Parts: sequence; C-alpha cells; structure tokens
Amino acid sequence: MTMTLQLLEEKKKLQSLKQFLHQFSAPAADALIERRENGDIQCFACGHRCLVKPGRDGVCRVRFNDNGVLQVPHGYVGVLACDPIEKKPFWHVLPGSDALTFGMLGCDYHCGYCQNWVTSQMLRDPDAVGQPKRCTPEQLVDIAMKHGAPVVASSYNEPLITSEWAVDVFKVAKARGLKCAYISNGNGTPQVLDFIRPHVDAYKVDLKTFSDRNYRQLGGVLENVTSTIKMLKERGFWVEIVTLVVPNFSDDPDDLKRMAEFIASVDPLMPWHMTAFHPDYKMTDGYRQTTTDDLMKAVEYGTQAGLKYMYPGNLPGQVGEWENTRCHHCSATLIRRFSFMVRENRMTKGDGLCPDCQKPIPGIWGKSSGHGDGRVRRIA
Ligand code: SF4
Ligand SMILES: [Zn+2]
Repeated sequence: MTMTLQLLEEKKKLQSLKQFLHQFSAPAADALIERRENGDIQCFACGHRCLVKPGRDGVCRVRFNDNGVLQVPHGYVGVLACDPIEKKPFWHVLPGSDALTFGMLGCDYHCGYCQNWVTSQMLRDPDAVGQPKRCTPEQLVDIAMKHGAPVVASSYNEPLITSEWAVDVFKVAKARGLKCAYISNGNGTPQVLDFIRPHVDAYKVDLKTFSDRNYRQLGGVLENVTSTIKMLKERGFWVEIVTLVVPNFSDDPDDLKRMAEFIASVDPLMPWHMTAFHPDYKMTDGYRQTTTDDLMKAVEYGTQAGLKYMYPGNLPGQVGEWENTRCHHCSATLIRRFSFMVRENRMTKGDGLCPDCQKPIPGIWGKSSGHGDGRVRRIA
C-alpha cells in the first residue's frame, strides 16, 4: 500500500515537471533538427541523434515532439551560482575569475557518480528535487555583471541538450563583453558545434573513461566524445579535458595511457585535469576514494605521451607543484593555486606570453575579476 502511494506521488511529481517543461519551452533551432514527412523529427543537439516521434521525447527527456514541432527548454534556470572558474575546471581561462554558472534540467547520460544529480537526473529519478525558476537572458547577464564575473557558463546538466537557451543567453553576454563557456560531457555532433561556435569561447569536455564498455554503462559512446574533442579543436574552441579517476572504473593503466596518447595526438598543449573521486550519488558502496598515488600515475602516463599541462585535482595541497601552471618553454611558475584559490597569477597582461621567456602560453588570458576568494556562491 505504502509502495503504491509512493509510486503515485513519484508519478505526480514527474507529471508536474513535465508540465513545467511544456510551459518553459520554445521551438528548436532549425540548424539542430531535420523534419520528416510523417512528423518525426531528428535531433542533432547531442550525439544520440534521436528520431523523436510526435507525442514523444528524446533520451534527454527535455526535448519533445509536440505535433511535429520539436520543443526545447527555454526561459528558466534550475541552478544558478557564481563559481570560481577553477571549479569548472578551466585553469587556462582568466585565472582567479568568477563564472556565473547556470544549469537547467535533464541530461543525455545517467552517470551513477553524478555530482549534479539533483538537476541532471530530475526527470529520471524521483529523489532528485530542484527548484527551477523563470528568468530572461538579460537577468542572468545582469547578475554576472553585478558579481563582476567576466564569464558566463552553462553547466550542472548537459549544456548541449539546451543549446538554444545557452546561445540566447550568450548573445546577450557577449554583447556586454563577457566570455562564454560550456561544461559538457562532449557527446556532440558537427551540427551543434557549428551552432554554438560563434557564441562559446571555452569548452570543457569530460572524458570519463577510455573504455567504450564503461562509457556505455553511463549512456554514452567513447567514439562520440573523441570525435567531439577533435571537432572542437578544428573549430578553434579553447578546450580543457577532465577525467574523474574512479578506482576500478576509469583507472585502468592501459586505458589511461591510451587516453593520454589520444589527447597528445590532438594537441599536447591541451590541459588535462585528472580529478580525484569521492563516493557520491549511487556509487557509494564498494567504491573507494582516489589517492594521490592514483592521480600521479595518470600524470606519469601523460608525461610519457608528451602532454605539457596536467592538473591532478580535488586533492588540494597534496600534489605539490602540480597545482600550479608552469611555462612549457622555460618552466617558470606562472600561476600558483591552492584548491580553487589563485595565490599568484603572472598571466594578467592579456598578451598570452610567459613574462619570463616571452613565448606563448596556450589559453585565454587577461585581467581576472570577480570575488577572487575561491568560494562558491549559490544564487538560486
Ligand atoms: S538532445 Fe540528444 S538526447 Fe535529447 S532529443 Fe536531442 S539527440 Fe536526443
Ligand atoms: Zn616561459
């Protein structure tokens, strides 16, 4: 009996979320869809490339076919925070700055260790409860300006699946001189990358594992992510890669070696963050935390592959010099960090040159701004 009531409650909650999504939606961009004569619509906002039938929704659950029109999320935020850009993590983009970061609902993956599951899994998991709020792009950008944040970022859920909304926000942000960023799982398509290219400066890709079998457990395909990384670089986005090193899931030495070689083959100067895992969400039992030794092995594989910027993260104060950025030409320390705090930044001139050897350092450089205290500020 209790079970039946609980199921009814859960169903009611999901139905009201569905109503919410219908209310806060707009037609998809033409560049991201292909219409079929029978009313089906193919969506290219992410690598799933769903063929969505009338009355149905895609794998992400937030894009749905309403009588032959693909409706997509618009006009709200699920989460809003002013975060240090180091948390995204972007370590070569205006270090020490804040990024006004917004998230919506839904995801095209279902990772058991998701740290943003309240927003990303709201449509799949009845335990995930968030409070979405109506807003306009102008209001979001006003908040960024008020906090002195030079970057606006789409994160927390998967930004690709809500690209139309992100582009509308970014158009306003760019007109006011801000940089714009995606924090994404990298399950992209050429269509969506071309669509966002004029509006997105920096793109972080989660390269979760180099085992396709493990990727499929999360709802993804390795090949989609590796080809997205190549396409991003071809199109001139600034890209940083992150791998959460989960013991017994993504820490296989051969996989990590092949991953490092892959990154180096695309661009040895592309930063690779390998971050420590803390048991979270559904992956709590039987999973241990990542140790410094685990991360330093990944650093070793990266070094062997020829990578120049590697950042073992999530273990502040435990990885010595590896929390800092050093010039790959002359080894001068350019940025000193502790956790998300930037203690010293010598790359503030905006010319992108090492102040010691005057050679170029990859990234987006210039004056940082924001609160600069490494703290996260939840706004909504
Ligand atoms: S965004 Fe991805 S999952 Fe959602 S409908 Fe489009 S192709 Fe499918
Ligand atoms: Zn130098």
